[in-house]
Amino acid sequence: MSKVKKQNRKRFKAFRKNNGWIGIIFLALAYLGMVIIVFAFTDIMSQYVLNAKVVAEVERVAEIVEIYNNSEMAPEEALELLGPNGESYVITDSRGGVIYEHGENTLSHKLLAVKEAYGIKYRLYADSKEDYIFLNDDHELEIDPRKVADNLSSGELLVNDMTFREFSLTDESEYLPEDIESTLDIDTAKMINFPIWVAIGINNNSQRFVAKCYVSYNLRDMFLAGGFAMVVLLGAGILFIVLVVNFVISIHRQHNTMKLFFTDIITREKNWMWFLYKGEPLVKKKYKNTYAVVNLVFVKYRTFCVCHSVDEGELMLRRVYNLIEASIGKKELISHCTPSHFALLLNADDKQELDNRLKVLINRLKSIDEEHDFNFQIGVDFIEVKKNDKGKITRRRFVDLTAEYNNACAARSSLEDTEASGIAYFDDELVQEQKWKDLVQENQRQALEKEEFVVYYQPKYNPRTKKLTGAEALIRWDSPVLGFIPPGRFIPIFEANGFIKEIDHYMVSHVARDQKRWKDMGFDIVPVSVNISRAHFIEDDLAEQIRDMVDAAGADRKYIEIELTESAFFDDKKALIKTITTLKEYGFMVSMDDFGAGYSSLNSLKDMPLDVLKIDADFFRGDQSDDRGKKVITETINLARSLEMLTVAEGVEDAEQVELLAGLECDMIQGYFFDEPMPGDQYEIRMELGESIDKEELKKYEEERMKKAEQASQTEGESK
Ligand code: C2E
Ligand code: CA
Ligand code: CA
Repeated sequence: MSKVKKQNRKRFKAFRKNNGWIGIIFLALAYLGMVIIVFAFTDIMSQYVLNAKVVAEVERVAEIVEIYNNSEMAPEEALELLGPNGESYVITDSRGGVIYEHGENTLSHKLLAVKEAYGIKYRLYADSKEDYIFLNDDHELEIDPRKVADNLSSGELLVNDMTFREFSLTDESEYLPEDIESTLDIDTAKMINFPIWVAIGINNNSQRFVAKCYVSYNLRDMFLAGGFAMVVLLGAGILFIVLVVNFVISIHRQHNTMKLFFTDIITREKNWMWFLYKGEPLVKKKYKNTYAVVNLVFVKYRTFCVCHSVDEGELMLRRVYNLIEASIGKKELISHCTPSHFALLLNADDKQELDNRLKVLINRLKSIDEEHDFNFQIGVDFIEVKKNDKGKITRRRFVDLTAEYNNACAARSSLEDTEASGIAYFDDELVQEQKWKDLVQENQRQALEKEEFVVYYQPKYNPRTKKLTGAEALIRWDSPVLGFIPPGRFIPIFEANGFIKEIDHYMVSHVARDQKRWKDMGFDIVPVSVNISRAHFIEDDLAEQIRDMVDAAGADRKYIEIELTESAFFDDKKALIKTITTLKEYGFMVSMDDFGAGYSSLNSLKDMPLDVLKIDADFFRGDQSDDRGKKVITETINLARSLEMLTVAEGVEDAEQVELLAGLECDMIQGYFFDEPMPGDQYEIRMELGESIDKEELKKYEEERMKKAEQASQTEGESK
C-alpha cells in the first residue's frame, strides 16, 4: 500500500475512533469514582477525629477517677472540687443504678460502646437530651449530621465560645478558605460540644464513675472534612464541566474538520475521500453482495464551461450530483471526484438490472437541461462476492476501492474515442489490452535503438500493363520479446503517446536509405510512399525534417512519396496546405491515404494540392455486384483525374476488381491480388522483374535466383 493510502487510512481510523460521547461517559465515570473516594475519605477522616476526641475525654475522665480514687475526701467533697464548672457526674452501681449524682443527670441507658484505650477500660453512653452521637452499622462512632443541622438551625445545640480544651483541634484560622467560611455562615471561632457519657469502673469495678463529656468541635474542625470534600468535589465538578465543554467543542470541531475533509469544493457534496471512508467498510460489511464501482463522466464538461461559464458548469455538476443521488439506494454511494468525474458504488447482485439502471440514468442525465443534450460515459468494475473452496461466501478482508475505481476508469476510457454516451465494463480483455499497451510502451525506445522495426514493401502495379509503378512502406515490429507484430497492434499506441513521430522519422530515413542503396545497385527504382501520422503534421517544420532526412541518406526526393491519412485533413487546414505545398516544392509527392473512409473529404480535395488519391480498401469489400459501389469508384477516379491526381486502389483482392479498375484507367493497384507487403529483399525481386508475373513463374524465378546467389557466394569464397 502506498504511503499516502496508509496515511488516509490512519486518518479515517482516527475519525471513526474519536467518538466524543465515549470520552464524556468515561469522564462521568471518573467523576463518580472520585465522589465515592472523597466520601469514603471524608468518612474515615471524621471517624478518626471523633475517636481521637473521645479518647482524649476518656483520658481526662481517667485522671479525675485517679484523683477521686486517691483522695482522702468524701466522694461528695471530692466531686464538688472536681466539678467547678458545673460538670455532671454520676456514680452508679454495676447494674446502672444511680448511687450519687452531681450536676444535671442526662445520662441515658443507651450503651454505645465498650472499649479500651491506653489500658483504660471504658464504656460510652449517649446523652438522653442531646443524642447526637450514635454507633453506625460498622460499629463506629458517628455524629448524626441531620440532628446537628436541625439543632443548629433551631439554636438548641450547645454552642459556646469560651472554651479552649486541651484535646480540641487547634483553632487556628487558616483551616478553611475564607469563601467557604462565609458560605457556611457560621462563626467558626465558636465550639460545638456534643455530649457523651464516659464510664470508668471504680471501687474494684463494683461501681462506675460516669462523667458527662463534651466532644468538642471547633466549627472549623467540624466542617474541615466536609469542606475539604466539598472543595474537592467542587473542583472536580468544575473540571468535569470544563472537560465536557471541551469535549463538546472538540466534537464540534472534529465534525467540522470531517466535513471539510469530506466535502467537495465544487458541488458542496461528498468527495472522493468520503467515498473511500464510507465505501470500504460498506463493501467489507456487505460481503454477501456484489458491488459495482462506477466511474461516470460528464463528456465535454470543459467545453460547456468555455461556451457558457464555469459557474454555469458547476451548477450543472450540482444538478447531475443531485439527480444521481436521488436515484441510488440507501446502501449505495456517490461522490464527486474531479470536475467531470463522479464515483459511484452500486449494488450489482443482478448485473442485467444494473445495466438497465445505468442506461436509464444516462438517459435522465442527458435530458437534465432542456437547452442542452449532454453525453455521459460510464465505466464499471465489479467487486464480486468471495467464495471459499467449498463455495461458501466469505468475508472480504481487503478492499482497495482506489484500484477498483481505477479499473472502472480504465473501462470508461475505452469509450474515449467518441463523445457519445456509453457504458463499458472492466473485464479480462481490457486487462490484456492495458497490459499490452504497457508492454509496448516499455519496449518502444529500446526497439527503436536496436532497429527492431522492419520496413516491409507492398508493390503497386498498373492494372493494365501490370508494370511495377510504386510501393508503400509498411512497418513491422520484429521484437525478440514480443514477437513479430503487425502495425495495427502498436501504431495506435504510438499515435496516442507521441512516439509515432520517431517512428515516422525512422521510416522516412530507412526508406530513403533503401532507395539510395537500390539505385546504387542498379535497380529500376519506383516511388515508395511512407505513412506520416497526422499527429506529426502539427509540426510546422515537418517538410524540412523530411527533406533533411532524405537528403542525408542521399536519396532522390522524387522517389519518396508522403501519405497523409484523411483524418489529418481535419486539423489545422492552413498549416496542412502549407506543409503539402512545401513538400511539393522540395520535390516530394504527396498522397491522400484512405480516401472515402470515415468522413467525407471532398472539400479537402478542393484546397489541397495533392498528387495521389488512394481509394480506401473499404470500397472493394462487401457486395461487389452492387452497381452503386462501382459508380462511386468510377466517379472518384474521374474526379481525381480531373484534378490531375494519380489514383491508387487499395486492398484489391480479386481479378474482377482489377479488370474493373483497368477499365476505369485507375493508375495503380495496391492489394493482395498482386502482392502482400514483403521484406526488402523480396521487393528487390519485384524491382528486378519490373512487372507482376504469374505466381508459378515467380516461384521458379525466385528459386533460380537463389541458386545463382548461392553459386556466386561459393565462387566468391573459393577465389578468396
Ligand atoms: P494503410 O496505410 O492503409 O496500409 C494499408 C494496409 O492494408 C496494410 O496493412 C496492408 O498490409 C493492408 N493491405 C494491403 N492490401 C490489402 C488487401 O488486398 N487486403 C487486405 N485485407 N489488406 C491489404 P498494415 O501493413 O497492417 O498496416 C496497417 C496500417 O498501419 C496502415 O494502413 C497504416 O495506417 C499503419 N501503418 C503501417 N505502417 C506505418 C508506418 O510506417 N507509419 C505510420 N504512421 N503508420 C503505419
Ligand atoms: Ca498508407
Ligand atoms: Ca491506406
